[in-house]
Amino acid sequence: MDTPNLPGNAEGFDVAVIGAGVVGCALARAFTLAGARVVVLEKAADVLDGASKGNSAILHTGFDAPEGSVELACIREGYALYHQIRDRLGLPLIRAGAMVLAWSEAEVAELPALMAQAVANGVTDVQAVTAAEALRLEPQLSAKVMGGFRVPGEHLIDPWSAAHGYLLQALENGATLMRQAEVLTGRRSQGVWHLATTAGAVQAGLVINAAGLWGDEVDRRVTGESWFTIKPRKGQFVVYDKTAASLLGHILLPVPTKTTKGIVVCRTAYGNLLVGPTAEEQDDREHATLDQPTLQALMQRGQDILPALAGHEVTAAYAGLRPATEEKEYRIRTDLAEDYICVGGIRSTGLSAALGIAAHVLRLAERSYPPLENPVWPQMPSLTGEAPRDWQTPGHGGILCHCELVTRREVEAALTGPMAAGSMGGLKRRTRVTMGRCQGFYCSAELARITEGRLAQPMLGGGDGAD
Ligand SMILES: Cc1cc2nc3c(=O)[nH]c(=O)nc-3n(C[C@H](O)[C@H](O)[C@H](O)COP(=O)(O)OP(=O)(O)OC[C@H]3O[C@@H](n4cnc5c(N)ncnc54)[C@H](O)[C@@H]3O)c2cc1C
Repeated sequence: MDTPNLPGNAEGFDVAVIGAGVVGCALARAFTLAGARVVVLEKAADVLDGASKGNSAILHTGFDAPEGSVELACIREGYALYHQIRDRLGLPLIRAGAMVLAWSEAEVAELPALMAQAVANGVTDVQAVTAAEALRLEPQLSAKVMGGFRVPGEHLIDPWSAAHGYLLQALENGATLMRQAEVLTGRRSQGVWHLATTAGAVQAGLVINAAGLWGDEVDRRVTGESWFTIKPRKGQFVVYDKTAASLLGHILLPVPTKTTKGIVVCRTAYGNLLVGPTAEEQDDREHATLDQPTLQALMQRGQDILPALAGHEVTAAYAGLRPATEEKEYRIRTDLAEDYICVGGIRSTGLSAALGIAAHVLRLAERSYPPLENPVWPQMPSLTGEAPRDWQTPGHGGILCHCELVTRREVEAALTGPMAAGSMGGLKRRTRVTMGRCQGFYCSAELARITEGRLAQPMLGGGDGAD
Protein backbone atom coordinates (compact mmCIF):
# COMPACT_ATOMS: atom_id res chain seq x y z
CA MET A 1 0.00 0.00 0.00
CA ASP A 2 3.07 2.19 -0.10
CA THR A 3 2.00 3.29 -3.55
CA PRO A 4 2.22 6.48 -5.54
CA ASN A 5 -0.86 8.01 -7.11
CA LEU A 6 -1.75 4.92 -9.12
CA PRO A 7 -4.29 4.97 -11.95
CA GLY A 8 -6.90 3.62 -9.52
CA ASN A 9 -6.41 6.78 -7.52
CA ALA A 10 -6.40 9.06 -10.53
CA GLU A 11 -9.59 10.71 -9.37
CA GLY A 12 -7.75 11.56 -6.17
CA PHE A 13 -8.32 10.99 -2.48
CA ASP A 14 -10.91 12.44 -0.15
CA VAL A 15 -8.23 13.43 2.35
CA ALA A 16 -4.46 13.96 2.15
CA VAL A 17 -2.75 13.94 5.55
CA ILE A 18 0.70 15.54 5.39
CA GLY A 19 3.02 13.96 7.96
CA ALA A 20 3.08 10.52 9.58
CA GLY A 21 3.90 11.46 13.15
CA VAL A 22 1.59 10.19 15.88
CA VAL A 23 -0.90 12.94 15.03
CA GLY A 24 -0.95 12.16 11.29
CA CYS A 25 -1.32 8.44 12.04
CA ALA A 26 -4.30 9.11 14.32
CA LEU A 27 -5.86 11.44 11.73
CA ALA A 28 -5.46 8.81 9.02
CA ARG A 29 -7.21 6.28 11.24
CA ALA A 30 -10.10 8.58 12.20
CA PHE A 31 -10.86 9.68 8.62
CA THR A 32 -10.46 6.15 7.21
CA LEU A 33 -12.81 4.69 9.81
CA ALA A 34 -15.24 7.50 8.99
CA GLY A 35 -15.27 6.19 5.41
CA ALA A 36 -12.87 8.60 3.66
CA ARG A 37 -10.27 7.53 1.09
CA VAL A 38 -7.11 8.75 2.78
CA VAL A 39 -3.54 9.19 1.61
CA VAL A 40 -0.74 9.84 4.11
CA LEU A 41 2.25 11.74 2.68
CA GLU A 42 5.47 11.38 4.65
CA LYS A 43 8.77 12.90 3.58
CA ALA A 44 11.00 10.47 5.49
CA ALA A 45 11.81 6.88 4.56
CA ASP A 46 9.66 5.72 7.46
CA VAL A 47 6.88 6.95 9.69
CA LEU A 48 7.44 8.53 13.17
CA ASP A 49 10.65 10.19 12.03
CA GLY A 50 9.99 13.65 13.49
CA ALA A 51 8.90 14.78 16.96
CA SER A 52 7.22 11.42 17.54
CA LYS A 53 10.59 9.64 17.37
CA GLY A 54 11.57 10.41 20.98
CA ASN A 55 9.39 11.36 23.94
CA SER A 56 8.69 10.38 27.56
CA ALA A 57 5.83 8.00 26.61
CA ILE A 58 3.50 9.19 29.36
CA LEU A 59 -0.22 8.95 28.71
CA HIS A 60 -1.20 12.22 30.35
CA THR A 61 -4.52 12.86 32.05
CA GLY A 62 -4.35 16.60 31.34
CA PHE A 63 -4.24 17.48 35.05
CA ASP A 64 -1.80 20.35 34.43
CA ALA A 65 -2.93 21.43 30.93
CA PRO A 66 -4.17 25.01 30.53
CA GLU A 67 -7.80 25.24 31.68
CA GLY A 68 -10.32 25.58 28.87
CA SER A 69 -7.72 24.92 26.16
CA VAL A 70 -8.16 22.83 23.03
CA GLU A 71 -5.08 20.96 24.25
CA LEU A 72 -6.87 19.93 27.44
CA ALA A 73 -10.00 18.82 25.57
CA CYS A 74 -7.90 16.74 23.14
CA ILE A 75 -5.83 15.14 25.92
CA ARG A 76 -8.99 14.19 27.83
CA GLU A 77 -10.64 12.72 24.74
CA GLY A 78 -7.40 11.08 23.55
CA TYR A 79 -6.84 9.52 26.96
CA ALA A 80 -10.37 8.06 27.01
CA LEU A 81 -10.12 6.81 23.43
CA TYR A 82 -6.78 5.12 24.07
CA HIS A 83 -8.37 3.17 26.93
CA GLN A 84 -11.33 2.32 24.69
CA ILE A 85 -9.37 0.91 21.73
CA ARG A 86 -6.15 -0.39 23.19
CA ASP A 87 -7.29 -3.98 23.80
CA ARG A 88 -8.63 -4.34 20.27
CA LEU A 89 -5.33 -3.14 18.79
CA GLY A 90 -3.16 -4.95 21.35
CA LEU A 91 -1.62 -1.74 22.71
CA PRO A 92 0.00 -1.82 26.16
CA LEU A 93 -0.82 0.30 29.20
CA ILE A 94 1.41 0.37 32.27
CA ARG A 95 -0.79 1.65 35.07
CA ALA A 96 1.96 3.42 36.98
CA GLY A 97 0.18 6.48 38.40
CA ALA A 98 2.21 9.61 39.04
CA MET A 99 3.33 11.66 41.99
CA VAL A 100 4.04 15.37 41.63
CA LEU A 101 6.78 16.05 44.16
CA ALA A 102 7.93 19.28 45.80
CA TRP A 103 11.60 19.68 46.73
CA SER A 104 11.54 23.21 48.21
CA GLU A 105 9.23 25.39 50.31
CA ALA A 106 8.42 27.42 47.20
CA GLU A 107 7.28 24.27 45.38
CA VAL A 108 5.26 23.11 48.39
CA ALA A 109 3.42 26.45 48.22
CA GLU A 110 2.42 25.71 44.61
CA LEU A 111 0.86 22.30 45.29
CA PRO A 112 -2.66 23.43 46.34
CA ALA A 113 -3.10 25.50 43.19
CA LEU A 114 -1.88 22.62 41.01
CA MET A 115 -4.32 20.23 42.69
CA ALA A 116 -7.16 22.72 42.24
CA GLN A 117 -6.23 23.02 38.56
CA ALA A 118 -6.30 19.23 38.21
CA VAL A 119 -9.81 19.09 39.68
CA ALA A 120 -10.95 21.97 37.43
CA ASN A 121 -9.53 20.01 34.48
CA GLY A 122 -11.71 17.03 35.36
CA VAL A 123 -8.94 15.00 37.01
CA THR A 124 -10.72 14.69 40.32
CA ASP A 125 -8.89 11.72 41.85
CA VAL A 126 -5.71 13.60 42.83
CA GLN A 127 -4.68 13.07 46.46
CA ALA A 128 -2.24 15.11 48.56
CA VAL A 129 0.66 13.17 50.09
CA THR A 130 2.97 14.16 52.90
CA ALA A 131 6.70 13.55 52.62
CA ALA A 132 6.31 10.47 54.84
CA GLU A 133 3.52 9.08 52.65
CA ALA A 134 5.56 9.71 49.50
CA LEU A 135 8.47 7.80 51.07
CA ARG A 136 6.17 4.95 52.07
CA LEU A 137 4.84 4.73 48.49
CA GLU A 138 8.32 5.01 46.96
CA PRO A 139 10.89 3.81 49.53
CA GLN A 140 13.88 4.61 47.27
CA LEU A 141 12.93 8.28 47.09
CA SER A 142 15.34 10.82 48.57
CA ALA A 143 14.40 11.82 52.11
CA LYS A 144 14.69 15.45 50.95
CA VAL A 145 11.22 15.22 49.42
CA MET A 146 8.85 17.72 51.07
CA GLY A 147 5.40 16.52 49.92
CA GLY A 148 3.33 16.31 46.83
CA PHE A 149 0.21 14.78 45.35
CA ARG A 150 -0.75 11.65 43.50
CA VAL A 151 -2.29 11.57 40.04
CA PRO A 152 -3.39 7.93 39.80
CA GLY A 153 -4.47 8.13 36.15
CA GLU A 154 -1.09 9.08 34.61
CA HIS A 155 0.20 5.98 32.84
CA LEU A 156 2.97 4.75 30.56
CA ILE A 157 2.51 3.47 27.03
CA ASP A 158 4.65 2.32 24.12
CA PRO A 159 5.05 5.53 22.09
CA TRP A 160 5.64 3.71 18.84
CA SER A 161 3.28 0.75 18.76
CA ALA A 162 0.44 3.16 19.54
CA ALA A 163 1.07 5.30 16.45
CA HIS A 164 1.95 2.28 14.31
CA GLY A 165 -1.32 0.67 15.38
CA TYR A 166 -3.35 3.75 14.39
CA LEU A 167 -1.72 3.88 10.96
CA LEU A 168 -1.85 0.14 10.37
CA GLN A 169 -5.57 0.17 11.08
CA ALA A 170 -5.98 2.95 8.52
CA LEU A 171 -3.93 1.02 5.93
CA GLU A 172 -5.74 -2.25 6.52
CA ASN A 173 -9.01 -0.42 5.97
CA GLY A 174 -7.98 1.04 2.64
CA ALA A 175 -5.73 4.07 3.30
CA THR A 176 -2.57 4.63 1.24
CA LEU A 177 0.84 5.49 2.66
CA MET A 178 3.41 7.27 0.51
CA ARG A 179 6.86 7.56 2.05
CA GLN A 180 9.73 9.65 0.70
CA ALA A 181 6.88 11.84 -0.50
CA GLU A 182 7.79 15.33 0.69
CA VAL A 183 5.06 17.85 -0.08
CA LEU A 184 6.66 20.64 -2.08
CA THR A 185 3.74 22.80 -3.21
CA GLY A 186 -0.05 22.90 -3.21
CA ARG A 187 -2.53 24.39 -5.65
CA ARG A 188 -6.29 24.28 -5.45
CA SER A 189 -8.38 24.38 -8.56
CA GLN A 190 -12.10 23.67 -9.02
CA GLY A 191 -12.41 22.35 -5.51
CA VAL A 192 -9.50 19.89 -5.78
CA TRP A 193 -6.09 20.17 -4.15
CA HIS A 194 -3.11 19.32 -6.36
CA LEU A 195 -0.09 18.53 -4.23
CA ALA A 196 3.35 18.21 -5.79
CA THR A 197 5.46 15.73 -3.84
CA THR A 198 8.89 14.21 -4.35
CA ALA A 199 7.06 10.94 -5.15
CA GLY A 200 4.68 12.44 -7.71
CA ALA A 201 1.44 14.41 -7.89
CA VAL A 202 -1.47 13.75 -5.52
CA GLN A 203 -5.03 15.09 -5.70
CA ALA A 204 -7.29 15.35 -2.68
CA GLY A 205 -10.49 17.06 -1.62
CA LEU A 206 -9.29 18.00 1.87
CA VAL A 207 -5.71 18.65 2.94
CA ILE A 208 -4.68 18.27 6.58
CA ASN A 209 -1.28 19.60 7.57
CA ALA A 210 0.14 17.45 10.39
CA ALA A 211 3.79 18.17 9.59
CA GLY A 212 4.93 18.67 13.20
CA LEU A 213 8.31 20.37 13.26
CA TRP A 214 7.67 21.60 9.70
CA GLY A 215 4.05 22.64 10.21
CA ASP A 216 4.65 26.34 9.46
CA GLU A 217 6.79 25.51 6.41
CA VAL A 218 4.13 23.15 5.00
CA ASP A 219 1.50 25.86 5.62
CA ARG A 220 3.56 28.24 3.48
CA ARG A 221 4.22 25.65 0.76
CA VAL A 222 0.56 24.74 0.44
CA THR A 223 -1.33 27.96 1.21
CA GLY A 224 1.38 30.60 0.75
CA GLU A 225 1.38 31.74 4.39
CA SER A 226 1.56 30.52 7.97
CA TRP A 227 0.04 32.02 11.09
CA PHE A 228 2.61 30.54 13.50
CA THR A 229 6.32 29.82 13.74
CA ILE A 230 7.80 26.56 14.97
CA LYS A 231 10.41 27.04 17.70
CA PRO A 232 11.90 23.58 18.28
CA ARG A 233 12.45 22.70 21.93
CA LYS A 234 14.87 19.86 22.54
CA GLY A 235 14.53 17.31 25.32
CA GLN A 236 17.48 15.07 26.24
CA PHE A 237 17.04 11.84 28.21
CA VAL A 238 19.21 9.20 29.86
CA VAL A 239 18.00 5.59 29.90
CA TYR A 240 19.07 3.35 32.77
CA ASP A 241 19.50 -0.41 32.54
CA LYS A 242 16.50 -2.63 33.28
CA THR A 243 17.90 -3.40 36.73
CA ALA A 244 17.02 0.20 37.76
CA ALA A 245 13.32 -0.16 36.97
CA SER A 246 12.73 -2.07 40.22
CA LEU A 247 13.62 1.13 42.14
CA LEU A 248 10.37 2.76 41.24
CA GLY A 249 6.63 2.27 40.67
CA HIS A 250 5.19 5.73 40.09
CA ILE A 251 6.03 8.31 37.45
CA LEU A 252 7.81 11.02 39.45
CA LEU A 253 6.95 14.47 38.17
CA PRO A 254 8.37 17.78 39.36
CA VAL A 255 6.29 20.88 39.99
CA PRO A 256 5.93 22.17 36.39
CA THR A 257 7.13 25.59 35.28
CA LYS A 258 5.44 27.89 32.76
CA THR A 259 7.46 26.43 29.85
CA THR A 260 8.09 22.81 30.76
CA LYS A 261 6.76 19.85 32.68
CA GLY A 262 10.32 19.46 33.99
CA ILE A 263 12.58 16.47 34.59
CA VAL A 264 10.63 13.25 35.02
CA VAL A 265 11.87 9.99 36.50
CA CYS A 266 9.86 6.98 35.36
CA ARG A 267 10.00 3.46 34.10
CA THR A 268 9.45 2.74 30.44
CA ALA A 269 6.99 0.32 28.92
CA TYR A 270 10.01 -1.83 28.00
CA GLY A 271 11.26 -2.10 31.58
CA ASN A 272 14.02 0.52 31.67
CA LEU A 273 14.19 3.67 33.78
CA LEU A 274 14.19 7.11 32.21
CA VAL A 275 15.39 10.50 33.44
CA GLY A 276 14.55 13.58 31.36
CA PRO A 277 13.66 15.56 29.34
CA THR A 278 15.43 18.89 29.29
CA ALA A 279 13.80 21.87 27.57
CA GLU A 280 16.30 23.62 25.28
CA GLU A 281 15.33 26.09 22.57
CA GLN A 282 17.10 25.63 19.23
CA ASP A 283 16.68 26.62 15.57
CA ASP A 284 17.65 23.28 14.04
CA ARG A 285 14.51 21.23 13.24
CA GLU A 286 16.27 18.07 12.10
CA HIS A 287 18.96 17.25 14.62
CA ALA A 288 18.50 16.60 18.31
CA THR A 289 22.08 16.26 19.51
CA LEU A 290 23.21 15.05 22.91
CA ASP A 291 25.85 16.73 25.04
CA GLN A 292 27.84 15.26 27.88
CA PRO A 293 27.40 18.04 30.48
CA THR A 294 23.61 17.92 30.10
CA LEU A 295 23.54 14.14 30.35
CA GLN A 296 25.74 14.32 33.47
CA ALA A 297 23.36 16.89 34.95
CA LEU A 298 20.40 14.61 34.20
CA MET A 299 22.14 11.69 35.91
CA GLN A 300 22.84 13.92 38.90
CA ARG A 301 19.19 15.05 39.00
CA GLY A 302 18.10 11.41 38.81
CA GLN A 303 20.34 10.54 41.77
CA ASP A 304 19.09 13.54 43.74
CA ILE A 305 15.59 12.09 43.41
CA LEU A 306 16.46 8.38 43.65
CA PRO A 307 19.88 8.07 45.37
CA ALA A 308 20.12 4.34 44.57
CA LEU A 309 20.38 5.19 40.87
CA ALA A 310 24.07 5.83 41.53
CA GLY A 311 24.56 2.06 41.54
CA HIS A 312 22.95 1.51 38.15
CA GLU A 313 24.26 1.87 34.62
CA VAL A 314 23.07 4.15 31.88
CA THR A 315 22.62 2.09 28.72
CA ALA A 316 21.49 4.76 26.27
CA ALA A 317 20.70 8.42 25.79
CA TYR A 318 18.43 10.11 23.27
CA ALA A 319 16.83 13.42 22.49
CA GLY A 320 13.57 14.55 20.92
CA LEU A 321 12.36 17.85 19.50
CA ARG A 322 9.01 19.36 20.51
CA PRO A 323 7.18 21.29 17.77
CA ALA A 324 6.67 24.29 20.07
CA THR A 325 5.47 27.65 18.76
CA GLU A 326 5.15 31.17 20.17
CA GLU A 327 1.92 30.06 21.94
CA LYS A 328 1.28 27.28 24.43
CA GLU A 329 -2.00 26.32 22.78
CA TYR A 330 -2.17 23.86 19.87
CA ARG A 331 -2.29 25.66 16.53
CA ILE A 332 -5.32 23.98 14.99
CA ARG A 333 -7.01 26.10 12.34
CA THR A 334 -9.72 25.22 9.88
CA ASP A 335 -10.36 26.88 6.54
CA LEU A 336 -13.42 24.96 5.35
CA ALA A 337 -13.91 27.27 2.35
CA GLU A 338 -10.47 26.17 1.16
CA ASP A 339 -10.77 22.56 2.39
CA TYR A 340 -7.59 22.98 4.43
CA ILE A 341 -6.94 22.20 8.09
CA CYS A 342 -3.70 22.92 9.89
CA VAL A 343 -2.93 20.80 12.96
CA GLY A 344 0.24 22.51 14.13
CA GLY A 345 2.23 23.13 17.29
CA ILE A 346 1.36 19.84 18.99
CA ARG A 347 4.12 20.52 21.45
CA SER A 348 4.54 18.20 24.37
CA THR A 349 1.33 16.20 24.80
CA GLY A 350 0.70 14.88 21.29
CA LEU A 351 1.16 11.24 22.18
CA SER A 352 -1.64 11.43 24.76
CA ALA A 353 -3.85 13.72 22.71
CA ALA A 354 -3.46 12.22 19.22
CA LEU A 355 -6.70 10.22 19.17
CA GLY A 356 -8.55 13.21 20.67
CA ILE A 357 -7.00 15.60 18.14
CA ALA A 358 -8.13 13.28 15.34
CA ALA A 359 -11.69 13.12 16.69
CA HIS A 360 -11.73 16.92 17.11
CA VAL A 361 -10.45 17.52 13.56
CA LEU A 362 -12.95 15.02 12.12
CA ARG A 363 -15.74 17.05 13.73
CA LEU A 364 -14.22 20.33 12.52
CA ALA A 365 -14.05 18.98 8.95
CA GLU A 366 -17.86 18.71 8.86
CA ARG A 367 -18.13 16.13 6.13
CA SER A 368 -19.57 12.70 5.72
CA TYR A 369 -18.34 9.76 3.66
CA PRO A 370 -19.91 6.41 2.75
CA PRO A 371 -19.68 4.44 6.01
CA LEU A 372 -17.00 1.78 6.37
CA GLU A 373 -18.61 -1.58 7.11
CA ASN A 374 -16.92 -3.92 9.64
CA PRO A 375 -13.54 -2.23 10.00
CA VAL A 376 -10.48 -4.45 10.42
CA TRP A 377 -8.72 -4.32 13.81
CA PRO A 378 -5.08 -5.41 13.40
CA GLN A 379 -3.24 -6.68 16.50
CA MET A 380 0.08 -5.04 17.24
CA PRO A 381 2.99 -7.29 18.28
CA SER A 382 3.59 -7.49 22.02
CA LEU A 383 6.91 -5.82 22.87
CA THR A 384 6.38 -4.92 26.51
CA GLY A 385 5.66 -8.27 28.09
CA GLU A 386 2.02 -7.41 28.96
CA ALA A 387 1.06 -10.25 26.61
CA PRO A 388 3.46 -13.16 25.89
CA ARG A 389 6.43 -12.08 23.78
CA ASP A 390 7.26 -13.72 20.46
CA TRP A 391 10.27 -15.58 21.88
CA GLN A 392 7.86 -17.39 24.21
CA THR A 393 5.97 -18.99 21.31
CA PRO A 394 7.39 -21.78 19.14
CA GLY A 395 8.64 -21.29 15.61
CA HIS A 396 10.25 -17.89 16.14
CA GLY A 397 13.41 -18.83 14.23
CA GLY A 398 15.83 -17.97 17.01
CA ILE A 399 16.60 -14.89 19.05
CA LEU A 400 18.46 -12.22 17.12
CA CYS A 401 18.78 -9.48 19.73
CA HIS A 402 19.48 -11.10 23.07
CA CYS A 403 19.33 -7.90 25.11
CA GLU A 404 15.74 -7.15 24.10
CA LEU A 405 14.80 -10.77 23.22
CA VAL A 406 13.83 -9.92 19.65
CA THR A 407 13.30 -12.91 17.39
CA ARG A 408 14.13 -13.44 13.75
CA ARG A 409 10.39 -13.88 13.06
CA GLU A 410 9.65 -10.46 14.60
CA VAL A 411 12.29 -8.79 12.45
CA GLU A 412 10.99 -10.54 9.32
CA ALA A 413 7.42 -9.47 10.16
CA ALA A 414 8.55 -5.86 10.59
CA LEU A 415 10.20 -5.96 7.17
CA THR A 416 7.03 -7.04 5.38
CA GLY A 417 3.38 -6.03 5.17
CA PRO A 418 1.64 -2.75 4.42
CA MET A 419 3.77 -0.81 6.87
CA ALA A 420 7.15 -2.53 6.41
CA ALA A 421 10.06 -0.71 8.06
CA GLY A 422 11.76 1.76 5.73
CA SER A 423 14.83 2.54 7.81
CA MET A 424 16.88 1.02 10.60
CA GLY A 425 15.28 3.53 12.98
CA GLY A 426 11.87 2.29 11.85
CA LEU A 427 12.90 -1.34 12.38
CA LYS A 428 14.06 -0.52 15.91
CA ARG A 429 10.79 1.26 16.71
CA ARG A 430 8.81 -1.76 15.47
CA THR A 431 10.83 -4.48 17.21
CA ARG A 432 13.29 -2.89 19.74
CA VAL A 433 16.14 -4.68 17.98
CA THR A 434 19.56 -3.18 19.02
CA MET A 435 17.92 -1.02 21.71
CA GLY A 436 19.14 -2.96 24.72
CA ARG A 437 22.23 -3.05 26.86
CA CYS A 438 24.75 -3.75 24.08
CA GLN A 439 23.15 -1.19 21.72
CA GLY A 440 23.52 -3.52 18.75
CA PHE A 441 27.14 -4.60 19.33
CA TYR A 442 26.28 -8.27 18.95
CA CYS A 443 23.44 -8.31 16.41
CA SER A 444 24.18 -5.44 14.00
CA ALA A 445 26.22 -7.55 11.56
CA GLU A 446 23.44 -10.14 11.25
CA LEU A 447 20.85 -7.36 10.94
CA ALA A 448 22.84 -5.74 8.12
CA ARG A 449 22.73 -9.07 6.31
CA ILE A 450 18.99 -9.60 6.86
CA THR A 451 18.00 -6.07 5.87
CA GLU A 452 20.28 -5.78 2.84
CA GLY A 453 18.29 -4.38 -0.08
CA ARG A 454 15.08 -4.25 1.97
CA LEU A 455 15.18 -0.81 3.62
CA ALA A 456 14.46 2.35 1.62
CA GLN A 457 17.14 3.98 3.78
CA PRO A 458 19.81 1.29 4.13
CA MET A 459 21.41 0.48 7.47
CA LEU A 460 24.93 1.29 6.34
CA GLY A 461 23.97 4.01 3.91
CA GLY A 462 24.70 7.03 6.10
CA GLY A 463 22.11 9.61 7.09
CA ASP A 464 20.30 9.22 10.37
CA GLY A 465 18.56 6.01 9.40
CA ALA A 466 20.12 4.32 12.35
CA ASP A 467 18.77 7.05 14.67
C1 LIG B 1 11.24 15.41 24.75
C2 LIG B 1 9.78 15.15 24.50
C3 LIG B 1 8.99 14.53 25.46
C4 LIG B 1 7.63 14.32 25.23
N1 LIG B 1 6.90 13.60 26.12
C5 LIG B 1 5.58 13.34 25.85
C6 LIG B 1 4.82 12.54 26.73
O1 LIG B 1 5.32 11.97 27.70
N2 LIG B 1 3.50 12.38 26.47
C7 LIG B 1 2.90 12.95 25.39
O2 LIG B 1 1.70 12.82 25.23
N3 LIG B 1 3.63 13.67 24.51
C8 LIG B 1 4.94 13.87 24.70
N4 LIG B 1 5.70 14.59 23.82
C9 LIG B 1 5.02 15.23 22.68
C10 LIG B 1 4.84 14.37 21.47
O3 LIG B 1 5.97 13.57 21.19
C11 LIG B 1 4.55 15.31 20.29
O4 LIG B 1 3.48 16.16 20.64
C12 LIG B 1 4.15 14.54 19.05
O5 LIG B 1 5.15 13.60 18.73
C13 LIG B 1 3.94 15.48 17.87
O6 LIG B 1 3.58 14.68 16.77
P1 LIG B 1 3.24 15.27 15.35
O7 LIG B 1 2.64 14.15 14.58
O8 LIG B 1 2.46 16.54 15.48
O9 LIG B 1 4.63 15.71 14.72
P2 LIG B 1 5.82 14.83 14.10
O10 LIG B 1 6.04 13.60 14.87
O11 LIG B 1 6.96 15.76 13.93
O12 LIG B 1 5.27 14.38 12.68
C14 LIG B 1 5.29 15.21 11.56
C15 LIG B 1 5.70 14.39 10.35
O13 LIG B 1 5.59 15.24 9.19
C16 LIG B 1 6.62 14.91 8.31
N5 LIG B 1 6.80 16.03 7.38
C17 LIG B 1 7.32 17.25 7.65
N6 LIG B 1 7.32 18.02 6.54
C18 LIG B 1 6.76 17.28 5.55
C19 LIG B 1 6.48 17.51 4.17
N7 LIG B 1 6.78 18.68 3.57
N8 LIG B 1 5.92 16.51 3.45
C20 LIG B 1 5.61 15.32 4.02
N9 LIG B 1 5.87 15.05 5.33
C21 LIG B 1 6.42 16.01 6.07
C22 LIG B 1 7.80 14.66 9.23
O14 LIG B 1 8.82 13.89 8.60
C23 LIG B 1 7.16 13.94 10.40
O15 LIG B 1 7.20 12.54 10.26
C24 LIG B 1 7.06 14.79 24.02
C25 LIG B 1 7.86 15.38 23.05
C26 LIG B 1 9.22 15.52 23.26
C27 LIG B 1 10.08 16.05 22.16
